[in-house]
Amino acid sequence: MTIALTLVLSAFAAEYGPLVEGTEGDEIAAGGHGQADTGVVGCSDQYLGEGIDLPELPLFYYRAQPSHSWGSREMVEVIVDTSRHLRWLMPEADPLTIGDISSERGGFLSGHKSHRGGIDADIGIYMAGGKQDPRGFTALGPGTFDLERNWMLISTLLDTGKIDMILLDRGHIERLRAYTVRAGLLTDDEAEHVFPSEGSRASWENVGIVRHAPNHADHLHVRVLCADGSKADAR
Ligand SMILES: [Zn+2]
Repeated sequence: MTIALTLVLSAFAAEYGPLVEGTEGDEIAAGGHGQADTGVVGCSDQYLGEGIDLPELPLFYYRAQPSHSWGSREMVEVIVDTSRHLRWLMPEADPLTIGDISSERGGFLSGHKSHRGGIDADIGIYMAGGKQDPRGFTALGPGTFDLERNWMLISTLLDTGKIDMILLDRGHIERLRAYTVRAGLLTDDEAEHVFPSEGSRASWENVGIVRHAPNHADHLHVRVLCADGSKADAR
């Protein structure tokens, strides 16, 4: 792991410059993000006050909609950190496909109810063998859904501590939940926390959870928290 990690970082630094660890925050901050006092100004589910354009990092991910790749600082950090970790953990897997986040100023985005405040992103899920479709999202059935790698994707996202919720089709959620318990990755209680039963109070109130939404058999919809850890729609 250490050798692979070093190789990835060297290759990355050679191609893109030192956008790793300590320097990455500076790079992102260069996009403009004042209000360091509270760190929460601009976190809205309706508009994007001081958005950051998700940088192009083809080693880690592919931006399918470059004009809709503006997000909050937390959103950009979550995508960069998660995709970087996945490159180390699963070097054989394809870079992630990143779909719509928000437009530069946020607001209504065609085809979506949300994606207005830079705090929502659509991310491709892995097909069997760790494949992603760079042209867009592909609906996956039980036979083509890569359980192991999609759990790695979701758990890496949740590990950032910045996730409000992840939306996914219930069929995939049931498969993931059964897999994590069967493989001894989660206890029953942990699985209920991450994948709360539909309609339960936890499914609406807790953060860091995976919840069902229709039309999400081909991608994850990821919503991040505000900088202070609050939910945008509760502010
Ligand atoms: Zn979405």
